[in-house]
Amino acid sequence: MAKEDGPGGPCYKVSLRPMTIVDHLECSYTGTRYEAGKLHNLSGEGWPLLVRYDLAKARESWNREWIADGPRSMWRYAPVLPVKNPANIVSLGEGWSPLVRTPRLAKTLGCEQLWVKDEGINPTGSFKARGLSCAISMCKELGVKKVAIPSAGNAASAMAAYAAAAGMEAHIFMPQDVPQANYIECKSFGAHVTLVNGLISDCGRIVGERKDAEGWFDVSTLKEPYRIEGKKTMGYELAEQMGWTLPDVIFYPTGGGVGMIGMWKAFEEMEQMGWIGSRRPKMIAVQATGCQPIVRAFEQGTERSEFWQNATTVSSGLRVPKPLGDFLVLKAVRQSGGTAIAVTDEESLDWGIELAKQEGMFVAPEGAACVAACQHLLNSGFLKPSEKIVIYNTGAGLKYLEAYATRFPRTALPVDSLSMISPR
Ligand SMILES: *Cc1c(COP(=O)(O)O)cnc(C)c1O
Repeated sequence: MAKEDGPGGPCYKVSLRPMTIVDHLECSYTGTRYEAGKLHNLSGEGWPLLVRYDLAKARESWNREWIADGPRSMWRYAPVLPVKNPANIVSLGEGWSPLVRTPRLAKTLGCEQLWVKDEGINPTGSFKARGLSCAISMCKELGVKKVAIPSAGNAASAMAAYAAAAGMEAHIFMPQDVPQANYIECKSFGAHVTLVNGLISDCGRIVGERKDAEGWFDVSTLKEPYRIEGKKTMGYELAEQMGWTLPDVIFYPTGGGVGMIGMWKAFEEMEQMGWIGSRRPKMIAVQATGCQPIVRAFEQGTERSEFWQNATTVSSGLRVPKPLGDFLVLKAVRQSGGTAIAVTDEESLDWGIELAKQEGMFVAPEGAACVAACQHLLNSGFLKPSEKIVIYNTGAGLKYLEAYATRFPRTALPVDSLSMISPR
């Protein structure tokens, strides 16, 4: 792909009718307005900021049929993304991931219509690429030179890749037990990596304490407004791939909950532009039993979650003990008539291997956790077999070789014992 063509090739400019129509930013809790086109972290009150667009204008000047001519990446939705100057877009071809029908797995689970949205094909092997492509593009547009992130793994890999592509300095703080893939990727991309003997929450505190003195822009989950915008494209894409309809049920592996918040926002935006109706899928937040703050808050009927002590799970993307946007996740789950459910790591790995065997897709344990959760909710009767179900696989199984390796101990046999003809 020639750089001059822009991301996604020559069609790119077509999808930029009209240019982005960002109106303002808004505190997700109080509704206070903030000016667009400036660097922002949290709102003054300490809550995540959301980007608001002039959707009435979009409704008049943009047609969903034009999107088909757009680039085959998430930038096909550029008019509802925040970047003003297309030259600032930092793209590695993220998004436009396949929505794969999985009939054998459906049969095993006892349902009729099941799809897996496979985010494992994204650059750096996870859907974090969507959020970081958008966030790093905005950093470029707003003149940021150094970025920093605390991460449980995949966000760090994605940030390191996009920072490298943008020529920015990247500073990464990760728990020392993150999967090898994340560590090796970040180092390969030339980031400054610090492994911390602690959790992502400890890493976040360190970045918070040092960023001003170091001149870093903090790209932590939900502490800047644009990762949500990138991740919301999963919602636009799903609607487009299903012929501008939505499924009955969405399973989403929930760590920080950014994807859930983003998709919920996308559905609202599409409704305001007249692209879809008011019906929403049941949103199912899936967590691991070793770290389930959202599930506990959902069951206790509270608006916010409490810090989950001693969080452990092989699904590193789900190891977020206190999501900053918990109230937004819980709102989406409740308003949609969905639920929150936790599964064990053993179940996740079992279903990951089952899915691989049956459908030829090797998924992250986070995605596999959704398969396990789906089985529970079909068995309990919460879901009917006739419902249209979409499972988000958020990452590639290849990034979790340590976890899957526990299931396949290696044994080698002596050469002699394998020969058909016995040696003389
Ligand atoms: C980060 C991550 C998650 C959780 O994503 P959120 O949108 O923050 O909830 C799930 N799966 C994988 C593979 C991840 O990397």
